[in-house]
Amino acid sequence: YLVRAMPLKDSNGNIVKWYGTNNDVHHQKELEKQKDNFLGIASHELKTPVTSLKAYAQVLESMFKRSGDFKNADLLSKMNKQVDRLTKLISDLLDVTKINSGRLQFNNTEFDFNEMVEEVVEDVQRTSFRHIIKKDLHFNKMVFGDRDRICQVITNLLTNAVKYSPEANQVIIYTENDHDNVKVCVQDYGIGISPALQDQVFEQFYRVSGSKEHTFPGLGLGLYISSEIVKRLGGKIWVNSVEGKGSTFGFSIPVLKD
Ligand code: ADP
Repeated sequence: YLVRAMPLKDSNGNIVKWYGTNNDVHHQKELEKQKDNFLGIASHELKTPVTSLKAYAQVLESMFKRSGDFKNADLLSKMNKQVDRLTKLISDLLDVTKINSGRLQFNNTEFDFNEMVEEVVEDVQRTSFRHIIKKDLHFNKMVFGDRDRICQVITNLLTNAVKYSPEANQVIIYTENDHDNVKVCVQDYGIGISPALQDQVFEQFYRVSGSKEHTFPGLGLGLYISSEIVKRLGGKIWVNSVEGKGSTFGFSIPVLKD
């Protein structure tokens, strides 16, 4: 229990009553657990209908395309993009509940790191107006790890770089490796983050507020999930940023196999 009490005194200064509050920490923990449980169930339940919605929308889009009805095909394509956003939000919520309850699982395989990065870049480039430039410094590596989870981290960093640089026209991704680690850095020329807030961006639900010119959508989960994944893989994640000039987010993970 956390207890706080305040005395109520009479005109002579004698204590006549104590006012108190107590905080039952166990109760709070139980509530947290229930909240996480609920988030887990809710996001799981939301996932199923959204997955069918996506399948129907895709079928409809290709039907309209085939019949030459481009006006409706365009509408369906817009709908597909929104369904993708919804899917991403739901799967981020689901990941957070998995992380918080220690149920985030990893599925490790051997894969070509460079090929994986190229795939992610191509994927993010498809929905982005910013030109994504890929530079390989010293790279030629087969690695052993969870390919999908590493893809997820790079996708998060790249989509953030694009999202938080509304006036720049390019984003750069560097990959590098030495004997023990692979390193990925994503550099943007965007809004940047003030030094005081740079550590906090990796916290759950944290979002930098107060940007007046632009409002950026999001739940504040991407960097938290990314940092948890990188930590679980035995690596490190960091940011270097100058407000108004841009940011470089980077991570490095140990190479488990040569
Ligand atoms: P979201 O983008 O959904 O808010 P994230 O966890 O990915 O969540 O990021 C947390 C916060 O960190 C963002 O709200 C934003 O304020 C800041 N941020 C992340 N990436 C960048 C970036 N490349 N440039 C500037 N700010 C960023």
